[in-house]
Order: sequence, then structure tokens, then C-alpha cells
Amino acid sequence: MSTTSFHDVETSTRMTNGTSSHKTGFGTLAVHAGQAPDPSTGAIMPPVYFTSTYVQESPGDHKGYEYARVSNPTRTALEGNLAALEGAKHCIAFSSGVASIDALLKTLRPGDHVVSTNDLYGGTFRLMTQVFEPFGLRFTFTDLTDLDSVADAITPETRLLWIETPTNPLLRIFDIAALSELAHRSNILVGVDNTFASPYLQQPLSLGADLVMHSSTKYLGGHSDVVGGAIMTNSDELDEKMRFLIKSAGAAPGPMDCFLLLRGTKTLHLRMESHCKNGEAVARFLRSHPKVAEVRWPGFEDHPGHAIAKLQMRDFGGMVSFILNDDALETANRVMAATKVFALAESLGGVESLISHPASMTHASIPAVKRREAGLPDSLIRLSVGIEDEADLIADLEQALELA
Ligand SMILES: *Cc1c(COP(=O)(O)O)cnc(C)c1O
Repeated sequence: MSTTSFHDVETSTRMTNGTSSHKTGFGTLAVHAGQAPDPSTGAIMPPVYFTSTYVQESPGDHKGYEYARVSNPTRTALEGNLAALEGAKHCIAFSSGVASIDALLKTLRPGDHVVSTNDLYGGTFRLMTQVFEPFGLRFTFTDLTDLDSVADAITPETRLLWIETPTNPLLRIFDIAALSELAHRSNILVGVDNTFASPYLQQPLSLGADLVMHSSTKYLGGHSDVVGGAIMTNSDELDEKMRFLIKSAGAAPGPMDCFLLLRGTKTLHLRMESHCKNGEAVARFLRSHPKVAEVRWPGFEDHPGHAIAKLQMRDFGGMVSFILNDDALETANRVMAATKVFALAESLGGVESLISHPASMTHASIPAVKRREAGLPDSLIRLSVGIEDEADLIADLEQALELA
């Protein structure tokens, strides 16, 4: 074996597909897929290859790596791991979640049209409307729970349906299988931002989507210490286009970031179990609290997307949003400033619990009128429930809600 072949293709293929009688489980894939001991030393973790270039025997005679913008062995290991977790043939890792969406949108051409949800992650909305609209791409944001309105939004120029489910921060649920079927009737590519669910809870490719995107900054990394993105797909054509864009536009993740993400994914299944359990406890506590008007969590039977969530997700996740009885911004601010375990911060999906105010933080780039149209109240509070002890999380919210 050459020194650069620690990404043992045979191992990761075996890990991905299992044998005919046995399918390798998610936890085993999380720990092992994409990685094999370093053949030169036996190191069990892939080395962090801090290198910008690779020595060639003679021009063109190399071991598969030429220049580190294009590829790096630590990145290759991460890509093998993430592909296996989504049950995908390919994964292309990017330097951030938005960089991966940026690359995908660059495969489109002026005049092409994209349909997406009207309660989209703020950064995606900004990228689409403020970066790509001026270059001639067209976007329609509509209610993806309403298949008729999606069908109405589709034009002969529509090339991409962009789904986010559960959504941020309203935790709405969209039917990936039904939307994929609808889009495929018109030959439209279906992409799913799977950041909120993680591949442990939801695998969009198996539901008919053509590609999955992650902000690996969130649950995949899981420790709030790295920014990253990824696209997973079974399409060789899309893989080729994404690799061309990494090479040509350069949104490549560094080797240390890839290493941190690999360390994170090893415990993804365990962390998600804990996020889901704590998320449920927090959602039920908030719902029973006299000062809380409404709680958004797809695990509630009366949540409008509950039945679909039950079908397409393993569990309901660790994200919970709520609105206070006293729907004033100052009241929400008082509560957010009073929590001690929940830290007031943007982002989500880390081991630590976070509390945030979408209207002034993550979604500030969406105009207030548009936010309200999409049903996002100014006083909505969003929780990323971490893996601390349930009783401590509830006690913290209880004391903070005294100020509501
Ligand atoms: C954070 C996030 C993104 C953007 O990812 P970055 O890694 O911050 O660039 C995209 N979609 C969703 C749902 C997110 O939460």
C-alpha cells in the first residue's frame, strides 16, 4: 500500500454496503467509514496532512494527490465517512455550509429558476437573493407543505427544488418523498439541506432526493469548534461538477477542520440520541408552562408535520422554538439574558445548549415584512438543546421564565 492510500476504498465500501446478509449499522459507519489505520505507522486516526502539494515521481506520476486545493487525504477520509452516513456514493466537503450551496448554485446559469421554502435558513436566503439574483438566477420562495403551490411555482426554467426540513427556526416539516416525486416529473433536481436532522435522523437520498447538503458546523461536527459544509449524492455527474468547482473556485476545507469533523462524527449517533431525549423533555416542559403561548417541536402529535416527521425521521431532534404569552420583544430579551446553562448564541447542534433570537440574529438578513409573512414572530425564541443533564436544562429555563 502506498502512504497515501489509508482511505481504504475496500473497507469503506464494505462499511457502506455491508455483506448480502448483514447491513453495517450507523454507529459502526460513524466510527469507521472512510478511515483505515495509516499504513506507514498504524496510526488509528487519519493523519492531519498539513501540506499544500505532493511530490511526483515524474510529471503526472503521482499517488492521486497533486495540489491541496483539489484534494487532501484527511479530507478524503472525511468525505468517505460522510458519504457512508448519508448512504451516498459521493461526498464533497466544503469550507462551510454556505460554500457548498454556493457551489451548487454555480452549476446553474442566468435565467435558471429555483423553487424553495419561504422559511429558509437566513444565510441561504441571503446567498440566493443578494449574491445570485444579481447574476441572473431566479428564485421563488413558497410554502412547501402545499404541493399545489409548489406545482404552480414551477416554470420551464426551474432547475432546482431546494428543501430544508425541519426548517429553521419554525420547525416545519416537508414531505421529501412527495416533493421529490413532484419535481422529478419535470426533471428538476431535488436538494435537501439536512442540517437540522443530521443523517442519523433522516436520509433524504433514500426518500428520493438527488443531493443532500449539510452545514457540518452543526450536528456533524457537534462541538462548536469548526465550520464546514458538505454535499452528498449518488450522481457521478453532480460529483464531477462539485469537484470541478472546488478546484476552480476553491472553497476547500483545511485538513485540521476535516480532522475535527471526523472526530465529531464518531459520536454522532450517541449525541443525537441525547439531543432528542433532552429536546423532548424541554419541549414538554415548555408546553406545560403557564407563561408559554406556543411550542414548536415536530414530536407533538398536533404539530402539523408530525405524521410526515414520523415517517421520514427516526426521531424528532433537539431543536425547539417557543413564543411567550407576553409577545413583547423586551420580555423575550429578558428571558434570553437570564439563562445560565443555555448560552445566548447563534448556531446549533453542539453538545452545549444554546438559546437564540432568530429575528435579530440568524434571520436578521430577511426583511421584517418577509419574516412576518413567513410566520416568524419577532418574539420567537429558538433553543438548540444540548446533551447536558435534562434536570439542569429544565431548572435553567424555569428560573429564566420567572422573568417573563
Ligand atoms: C448554519 C446553517 C447553514 C450554513 O452553514 P455554515 O456552515 O454556517 O456556512 C445552512 N443551513 C442551515 C439549516 C444551517 O443551520
